[in-house]
Amino acid sequence: MSTLEIRDLQVSVKLPDGELKPILAGVDLTIKSGETHAIMGPNGSGKSTLAYSIAGHPKYEITGGSVTLDGQDILELSVDERARAGLFLAMQYPVEVPGVSVANFLRTAKTAIDGEAPKLRTWAGELRGAMEKLQMDPAFAQRNVNEGFSGGEKKRHEIMQLELLKPKIAILDETDSGLDIDALQIVSEGVNRVRATGATGFLLITHYTRILRYIKPDFVHVFVGGRIVEEGGPELGEQLEAEGYKKYLVKA
Ligand code: ADP
Ligand code: MG
Ligand code: MG
Repeated sequence: MSTLEIRDLQVSVKLPDGELKPILAGVDLTIKSGETHAIMGPNGSGKSTLAYSIAGHPKYEITGGSVTLDGQDILELSVDERARAGLFLAMQYPVEVPGVSVANFLRTAKTAIDGEAPKLRTWAGELRGAMEKLQMDPAFAQRNVNEGFSGGEKKRHEIMQLELLKPKIAILDETDSGLDIDALQIVSEGVNRVRATGATGFLLITHYTRILRYIKPDFVHVFVGGRIVEEGGPELGEQLEAEGYKKYLVKA
Protein backbone atom coordinates (compact mmCIF):
# COMPACT_ATOMS: atom_id res chain seq x y z
CA MET A 1 0.00 0.00 0.00
CA SER A 2 1.44 3.36 -1.08
CA THR A 3 0.38 6.92 -0.36
CA LEU A 4 1.19 10.11 -2.23
CA GLU A 5 0.56 13.07 0.00
CA ILE A 6 0.42 16.60 -1.38
CA ARG A 7 0.23 19.26 1.32
CA ASP A 8 -0.41 22.96 0.72
CA LEU A 9 1.64 22.80 -2.48
CA GLN A 10 2.52 26.21 -3.88
CA VAL A 11 4.29 26.46 -7.21
CA SER A 12 5.43 29.24 -9.53
CA VAL A 13 6.47 28.97 -13.14
CA LYS A 14 9.88 30.44 -13.99
CA LEU A 15 9.50 33.00 -16.75
CA PRO A 16 12.33 33.57 -19.25
CA ASP A 17 13.24 36.89 -17.60
CA GLY A 18 13.75 35.04 -14.31
CA GLU A 19 10.56 36.26 -12.72
CA LEU A 20 8.28 33.82 -10.87
CA LYS A 21 4.61 33.66 -11.77
CA PRO A 22 2.55 31.95 -9.03
CA ILE A 23 0.32 29.17 -10.38
CA LEU A 24 -0.51 26.67 -7.63
CA ALA A 25 -2.06 28.35 -4.63
CA GLY A 26 -1.97 25.59 -2.00
CA VAL A 27 -3.01 22.14 -3.23
CA ASP A 28 -3.95 19.38 -0.76
CA LEU A 29 -4.48 15.88 -2.09
CA THR A 30 -3.87 12.34 -0.84
CA ILE A 31 -3.78 9.42 -3.27
CA LYS A 32 -3.48 5.81 -2.12
CA SER A 33 -2.69 2.79 -4.26
CA GLY A 34 -5.90 1.31 -5.60
CA GLU A 35 -7.63 4.69 -5.69
CA THR A 36 -8.45 6.67 -8.81
CA HIS A 37 -8.71 10.44 -8.47
CA ALA A 38 -9.84 12.72 -11.27
CA ILE A 39 -8.77 16.34 -11.34
CA MET A 40 -11.01 18.36 -13.58
CA GLY A 41 -10.63 22.01 -14.38
CA PRO A 42 -10.71 24.55 -17.16
CA ASN A 43 -7.76 25.37 -19.41
CA GLY A 44 -5.04 27.34 -17.69
CA SER A 45 -6.13 26.42 -14.16
CA GLY A 46 -2.75 24.85 -13.37
CA LYS A 47 -3.47 21.14 -13.80
CA SER A 48 -0.35 20.43 -15.87
CA THR A 49 1.68 22.56 -13.47
CA LEU A 50 0.60 20.21 -10.69
CA ALA A 51 1.61 17.15 -12.72
CA TYR A 52 4.98 18.61 -13.80
CA SER A 53 5.80 19.81 -10.29
CA ILE A 54 5.28 16.34 -8.87
CA ALA A 55 7.40 14.89 -11.69
CA GLY A 56 10.19 17.39 -11.08
CA HIS A 57 10.15 19.53 -14.22
CA PRO A 58 12.82 22.27 -13.87
CA LYS A 59 10.54 25.00 -15.23
CA TYR A 60 8.57 25.02 -11.99
CA GLU A 61 9.68 26.30 -8.63
CA ILE A 62 8.14 24.94 -5.46
CA THR A 63 7.56 27.91 -3.19
CA GLY A 64 5.74 26.14 -0.37
CA GLY A 65 4.21 22.91 0.88
CA SER A 66 5.31 19.30 0.49
CA VAL A 67 4.90 16.16 -1.57
CA THR A 68 5.74 12.79 -0.02
CA LEU A 69 5.50 9.22 -1.26
CA ASP A 70 5.20 6.82 1.65
CA GLY A 71 6.69 9.45 3.89
CA GLN A 72 9.67 10.19 1.64
CA ASP A 73 10.07 13.80 0.50
CA ILE A 74 10.02 13.45 -3.27
CA LEU A 75 10.63 17.13 -3.99
CA GLU A 76 14.24 16.49 -2.91
CA LEU A 77 14.68 13.79 -5.55
CA SER A 78 15.88 14.05 -9.14
CA VAL A 79 13.45 13.19 -11.94
CA ASP A 80 15.05 9.73 -12.29
CA GLU A 81 14.90 9.11 -8.57
CA ARG A 82 11.21 10.00 -8.56
CA ALA A 83 10.58 7.43 -11.28
CA ARG A 84 12.56 4.85 -9.33
CA ALA A 85 10.56 5.67 -6.21
CA GLY A 86 7.47 4.60 -8.17
CA LEU A 87 6.05 7.78 -9.69
CA PHE A 88 4.89 7.71 -13.29
CA LEU A 89 3.94 10.74 -15.33
CA ALA A 90 2.33 10.43 -18.73
CA MET A 91 3.12 13.72 -20.40
CA GLN A 92 0.51 15.86 -22.04
CA TYR A 93 3.13 16.51 -24.74
CA PRO A 94 5.34 13.41 -24.85
CA VAL A 95 8.92 14.04 -25.91
CA GLU A 96 10.76 12.32 -28.73
CA VAL A 97 13.76 10.17 -27.84
CA PRO A 98 15.73 10.00 -31.10
CA GLY A 99 17.67 6.82 -31.74
CA VAL A 100 16.10 4.85 -28.87
CA SER A 101 13.65 2.11 -29.78
CA VAL A 102 10.49 1.48 -27.80
CA ALA A 103 11.81 -1.94 -26.76
CA ASN A 104 15.11 -0.51 -25.50
CA PHE A 105 13.46 2.42 -23.81
CA LEU A 106 11.08 0.18 -21.88
CA ARG A 107 13.82 -2.26 -20.90
CA THR A 108 16.05 0.56 -19.68
CA ALA A 109 13.20 2.11 -17.70
CA LYS A 110 12.26 -1.25 -16.19
CA THR A 111 15.88 -1.90 -15.22
CA ALA A 112 16.19 1.53 -13.60
CA ILE A 113 12.99 1.12 -11.61
CA ASP A 114 13.53 -2.47 -10.48
CA GLY A 115 17.25 -2.02 -9.84
CA GLU A 116 18.00 -5.06 -12.03
CA ALA A 117 17.49 -5.96 -15.65
CA PRO A 118 14.32 -7.94 -16.39
CA LYS A 119 14.93 -11.58 -17.34
CA LEU A 120 15.34 -11.69 -21.11
CA ARG A 121 12.99 -14.60 -21.67
CA THR A 122 10.04 -13.45 -19.61
CA TRP A 123 10.56 -9.82 -20.61
CA ALA A 124 10.07 -10.47 -24.33
CA GLY A 125 6.78 -12.18 -23.53
CA GLU A 126 5.65 -9.41 -21.22
CA LEU A 127 6.43 -6.81 -23.86
CA ARG A 128 4.59 -8.76 -26.53
CA GLY A 129 1.63 -9.33 -24.22
CA ALA A 130 1.34 -5.65 -23.34
CA MET A 131 1.41 -4.72 -27.02
CA GLU A 132 -1.18 -7.31 -27.96
CA LYS A 133 -3.57 -6.08 -25.26
CA LEU A 134 -3.25 -2.58 -26.68
CA GLN A 135 -3.75 -3.90 -30.22
CA MET A 136 -0.37 -2.65 -31.38
CA ASP A 137 1.65 -3.97 -34.31
CA PRO A 138 4.73 -5.89 -32.98
CA ALA A 139 6.88 -3.79 -35.35
CA PHE A 140 6.10 -0.85 -33.09
CA ALA A 141 8.69 -2.08 -30.56
CA GLN A 142 11.48 -1.30 -33.02
CA ARG A 143 10.42 2.26 -33.73
CA ASN A 144 12.12 5.21 -32.02
CA VAL A 145 10.25 6.58 -29.03
CA ASN A 146 7.61 9.08 -30.07
CA GLU A 147 9.27 9.69 -33.47
CA GLY A 148 6.41 10.19 -35.89
CA PHE A 149 3.96 8.55 -33.49
CA SER A 150 0.34 9.43 -34.07
CA GLY A 151 -1.60 10.79 -31.10
CA GLY A 152 -3.09 7.36 -30.50
CA GLU A 153 0.29 5.61 -30.70
CA LYS A 154 1.76 8.00 -28.14
CA LYS A 155 -1.04 7.25 -25.72
CA ARG A 156 -0.80 3.51 -26.25
CA HIS A 157 2.94 3.74 -25.64
CA GLU A 158 2.21 5.51 -22.34
CA ILE A 159 -0.23 2.81 -21.28
CA MET A 160 2.30 0.16 -22.29
CA GLN A 161 4.78 1.81 -19.92
CA LEU A 162 2.15 1.74 -17.18
CA GLU A 163 1.48 -1.97 -17.65
CA LEU A 164 5.15 -2.90 -17.73
CA LEU A 165 6.58 -0.54 -15.12
CA LYS A 166 3.80 -0.99 -12.55
CA PRO A 167 4.26 2.37 -10.79
CA LYS A 168 2.94 3.10 -7.30
CA ILE A 169 1.36 6.34 -8.43
CA ALA A 170 0.50 7.21 -12.04
CA ILE A 171 -0.34 10.72 -13.16
CA LEU A 172 -2.06 10.88 -16.53
CA ASP A 173 -2.29 14.42 -17.87
CA GLU A 174 -5.01 14.70 -20.51
CA THR A 175 -4.46 11.19 -21.72
CA ASP A 176 -7.85 11.54 -23.44
CA SER A 177 -6.99 14.54 -25.58
CA GLY A 178 -6.69 13.81 -29.28
CA LEU A 179 -7.92 10.22 -29.07
CA ASP A 180 -10.67 8.87 -31.26
CA ILE A 181 -13.29 6.71 -29.57
CA ASP A 182 -11.60 3.39 -30.40
CA ALA A 183 -8.24 4.54 -29.08
CA LEU A 184 -9.89 6.05 -26.01
CA GLN A 185 -11.52 2.71 -25.29
CA ILE A 186 -8.30 0.73 -25.70
CA VAL A 187 -6.36 3.17 -23.54
CA SER A 188 -9.09 3.18 -20.88
CA GLU A 189 -9.15 -0.61 -20.79
CA GLY A 190 -5.39 -0.53 -20.25
CA VAL A 191 -5.75 1.86 -17.34
CA ASN A 192 -8.54 -0.26 -15.91
CA ARG A 193 -6.38 -3.40 -16.14
CA VAL A 194 -3.60 -1.74 -14.18
CA ARG A 195 -6.15 -0.32 -11.81
CA ALA A 196 -7.62 -3.77 -11.17
CA THR A 197 -4.28 -4.93 -9.73
CA GLY A 198 -4.88 -2.49 -6.86
CA ALA A 199 -1.15 -1.73 -6.75
CA THR A 200 -1.29 1.66 -8.46
CA GLY A 201 -2.97 4.90 -7.43
CA PHE A 202 -4.14 7.09 -10.31
CA LEU A 203 -4.40 10.80 -10.78
CA LEU A 204 -6.33 11.46 -13.99
CA ILE A 205 -6.11 15.05 -15.14
CA THR A 206 -8.62 16.17 -17.72
CA HIS A 207 -10.83 19.00 -18.77
CA TYR A 208 -13.30 16.72 -20.52
CA THR A 209 -15.61 14.32 -18.73
CA ARG A 210 -15.42 11.94 -21.71
CA ILE A 211 -12.71 9.66 -20.31
CA LEU A 212 -14.62 9.34 -17.04
CA ARG A 213 -17.25 7.30 -18.87
CA TYR A 214 -14.64 4.60 -19.34
CA ILE A 215 -12.57 5.05 -16.21
CA LYS A 216 -14.83 5.59 -13.22
CA PRO A 217 -12.98 7.68 -10.66
CA ASP A 218 -13.42 7.07 -6.93
CA PHE A 219 -12.94 10.78 -6.24
CA VAL A 220 -13.40 13.90 -8.35
CA HIS A 221 -11.64 17.18 -7.52
CA VAL A 222 -12.59 20.42 -9.24
CA PHE A 223 -9.50 22.50 -9.95
CA VAL A 224 -9.79 26.23 -10.61
CA GLY A 225 -7.30 29.07 -10.18
CA GLY A 226 -4.45 26.84 -8.99
CA ARG A 227 -6.32 24.98 -6.27
CA ILE A 228 -9.00 22.43 -5.50
CA VAL A 229 -12.31 24.22 -5.03
CA GLU A 230 -14.61 21.22 -4.59
CA GLU A 231 -14.37 17.47 -3.99
CA GLY A 232 -16.84 14.66 -4.42
CA GLY A 233 -17.50 11.27 -5.94
CA PRO A 234 -18.22 10.28 -9.55
CA GLU A 235 -21.48 12.24 -9.44
CA LEU A 236 -19.47 15.45 -9.33
CA GLY A 237 -18.00 14.55 -12.73
CA GLU A 238 -21.47 14.09 -14.12
CA GLN A 239 -22.56 17.42 -12.69
CA LEU A 240 -19.58 19.12 -14.38
CA GLU A 241 -20.50 17.50 -17.67
CA ALA A 242 -23.94 19.08 -17.43
CA GLU A 243 -23.03 22.44 -15.95
CA GLY A 244 -19.40 23.16 -16.87
CA TYR A 245 -17.08 25.22 -14.68
CA LYS A 246 -19.06 28.48 -14.76
CA LYS A 247 -20.11 28.56 -11.14
CA TYR A 248 -16.55 27.92 -9.91
CA LEU A 249 -15.08 30.56 -12.20
CA VAL A 250 -17.34 33.18 -10.66
CA LYS A 251 -16.15 32.19 -7.18
CA ALA A 252 -12.47 31.91 -8.09
P1 ADP B 1 -3.76 23.60 -17.41
O1 ADP B 1 -2.96 22.35 -17.52
O2 ADP B 1 -4.80 23.54 -16.35
O3 ADP B 1 -4.33 24.03 -18.72
P2 ADP B 1 -1.20 24.88 -16.95
O4 ADP B 1 -0.64 24.28 -15.70
O5 ADP B 1 -0.67 24.39 -18.24
O6 ADP B 1 -2.79 24.78 -16.91
O7 ADP B 1 -0.98 26.45 -16.89
C1 ADP B 1 -1.38 27.20 -15.76
C2 ADP B 1 -1.05 28.66 -15.96
O8 ADP B 1 0.36 28.82 -16.00
C3 ADP B 1 -1.59 29.24 -17.26
O9 ADP B 1 -2.07 30.53 -17.00
C4 ADP B 1 -0.37 29.29 -18.14
O10 ADP B 1 -0.46 30.30 -19.09
C5 ADP B 1 0.72 29.55 -17.12
N1 ADP B 1 2.02 29.09 -17.59
C6 ADP B 1 2.45 27.82 -17.69
N2 ADP B 1 3.69 27.79 -18.19
C7 ADP B 1 4.05 29.07 -18.41
C8 ADP B 1 5.22 29.72 -18.92
N3 ADP B 1 6.30 29.05 -19.31
N4 ADP B 1 5.22 31.06 -19.01
C9 ADP B 1 4.15 31.78 -18.61
N5 ADP B 1 3.03 31.24 -18.13
C10 ADP B 1 2.97 29.92 -18.02
MG1 MG C 1 -3.67 23.37 -20.93
MG1 MG D 1 -2.66 21.00 -19.00
